Amino acid sequence: MVEVKVDHDKCTGCGTCVEVCPVGVFEIQNEKSVPVNESECLACRACEAQCPEAAIEIIE
Ligand code: SF4
Ligand code: SF4
Repeated sequence: MVEVKVDHDKCTGCGTCVEVCPVGVFEIQNEKSVPVNESECLACRACEAQCPEAAIEIIE
């Protein structure tokens, strides 16, 4: 199983991860990204690569 970690100290709530994730893992809650569908993660790492704050870590 893949673990999706978002560092809320770094996250600005820009929504890029919501847009790039092909399986809808993320949702913005209170201006922070929350991995609400972590179990769907394909480990494609698009979110990790495109987060402008480097706030996402994918752990396989
Ligand atoms: S792309 Fe990064 S900074 Fe933007 S909402 Fe997602 S985790 Fe936060
Ligand atoms: S690694 Fe890919 S599938 Fe997993 S949360 Fe990031 S964008 Fe979505």
